[in-house]
Amino acid sequence: MRWSQTFIPTLKEVPSDAEVPSHQLMLRSGLIRQLMAGAYSYLPLGWRTVRKVARIVREEMDRAGAIEMFMPAIQPIELFEKTGRKDAFGDVLFQFDAKRGDRSLHFALGPTHEEVITDLVSREIRTYKQLPLTLYQIQTKFRNEERPRFGVLRTSEFLMKDAYSFSTSLEELNDIYDAMYKAYCRIFERCGLEYIPVEAESGPIGGDASHEFMVPAPNGEDFVVRCTGCAYAANQERADTGRMSSVLSAVDSAVDPVAVDTPGAGTIDDVSRLLKSDAASFIKTLIYVADGRPTAVLIRGDHEANEGKIRRALGVTELEMADDATVESVTGAPVGFAGPVGLNCDFVADHDIAAIESAIAGANANDTHLTGVIPGTHFELSETHDLRNATADDPCPRCDAKLEIVHGIEVGHVFKLGTKYSEALDANWLDPQEKKHPIIMGCYGIGVTRVVAAIVETCHDEGGIIWPTAVAPYTVELIPLNVTDEITMATANRIYDQLIGAGVEVLMDDRDQRPGFKFKDADLIGLPIRMVVGGKGLKDGIVEVKRRTDSDAARVPVAEAAPHVLKLLK
Ligand SMILES: [Zn+2]
Repeated sequence: MRWSQTFIPTLKEVPSDAEVPSHQLMLRSGLIRQLMAGAYSYLPLGWRTVRKVARIVREEMDRAGAIEMFMPAIQPIELFEKTGRKDAFGDVLFQFDAKRGDRSLHFALGPTHEEVITDLVSREIRTYKQLPLTLYQIQTKFRNEERPRFGVLRTSEFLMKDAYSFSTSLEELNDIYDAMYKAYCRIFERCGLEYIPVEAESGPIGGDASHEFMVPAPNGEDFVVRCTGCAYAANQERADTGRMSSVLSAVDSAVDPVAVDTPGAGTIDDVSRLLKSDAASFIKTLIYVADGRPTAVLIRGDHEANEGKIRRALGVTELEMADDATVESVTGAPVGFAGPVGLNCDFVADHDIAAIESAIAGANANDTHLTGVIPGTHFELSETHDLRNATADDPCPRCDAKLEIVHGIEVGHVFKLGTKYSEALDANWLDPQEKKHPIIMGCYGIGVTRVVAAIVETCHDEGGIIWPTAVAPYTVELIPLNVTDEITMATANRIYDQLIGAGVEVLMDDRDQRPGFKFKDADLIGLPIRMVVGGKGLKDGIVEVKRRTDSDAARVPVAEAAPHVLKLLK
């Protein structure tokens, strides 16, 4: 391809609204342009990389035994009503009405395709003889993100590979899951990404039923808890803290807690400033409504409650923060002064509460806190639970080594779904005795366009992108220094033809621009190999070849130019 004939609108300046490197570099190197918040066009260079990533995904899905198909983005809302995802998605689900004659129809734009594919399978799959089956597609997904941001990392419309497996037993599901997991590892390796498979929310099947694939990146929106000593890694929402349950019995001779005035100090920050004490000596008392019942959750002041863990510890499905009126009715005080002593509702406590020897807590009275609260003595503590997010201070739940927290970009997710969708949509199989069972499902997603952003986010320097060869829009950038010089252009064209003939993807910068200008653009768009033709070198029969990551170019005889590139690519 010749630069003059394609469309690569590079930018010299960093766009002011682009916060993260991938957003800045994808705009500057002419890969993408924004149509509106959350919606981007992929320009020719960007689209080439998207297609290369998609091809790698396809090859590995096919190799793992999945079969490609294609489903509609427009879906009837009734399917989402049947599975309960209309409510679960809320505003994130794009919905719209359309008139057809005198009928008004209600549609959704698919955020994923569990409903559509399970509906299809429920009509077409009858017996165990047709299973197992894994189907996938690469298709545009729609999510009405409240805050689309970071370029194509978080958009309301994005390209995704979604696969769905259908099987008759958990053993079959586990085999498919393992094959998908391995395929994902190969995909991200081939894309040149560093990645961490992490344990994620397990959902209905429980246990080790879900993994996310995270690319470590300082600007990643997800938090990964990783062990410094073993292979343990988990999404922060999921990560166990490695703490143990405690039972505390009352201390006989303990003195009573002391009430102190804390006027207007309703947050831990306020009170710790006022009493000059550390947040770790506070008991944070959070009032929730759990399956309709007010329930308090006790967490150490410097920790963050984890609603997934709380829900599991309580064995409830609905969990939300109580409103002010409920807080006042169970504590007898305005919001901000709840505490475990004399509280008028059930409560659960995190493991670390038991380790606080003398705590500060709300007094369940306006403008008052208690100091010297002894867990197990001033309030009962017969068992404790893991109710909070893990931190870097926690031991690994597997090996006791130190944990660390890293930011990550989620690029893939594999999930054992179980029978949630097959039961809701009546997708069953008959065993040899003609007995009916719900089909056991798994789902497996990769954000194809997000993979591209994650590559740029992690593969760049101050000059621009550094594409891994397998996903680079082109492999070689050929730069004739002076396009008005006949010998230069004749040589460049000859090498161009040789490389193309050898199957190498070449972009020739044939613009009539100064060399410095073209070199800057070459660094910016970041193709793996750059070859410069012209000037004094050419007079000596030499061209300059360098990899994007090399600081110095190799001087190669013109006749050796194409073979040299092929050698570099081996
Ligand atoms: Zn460990």
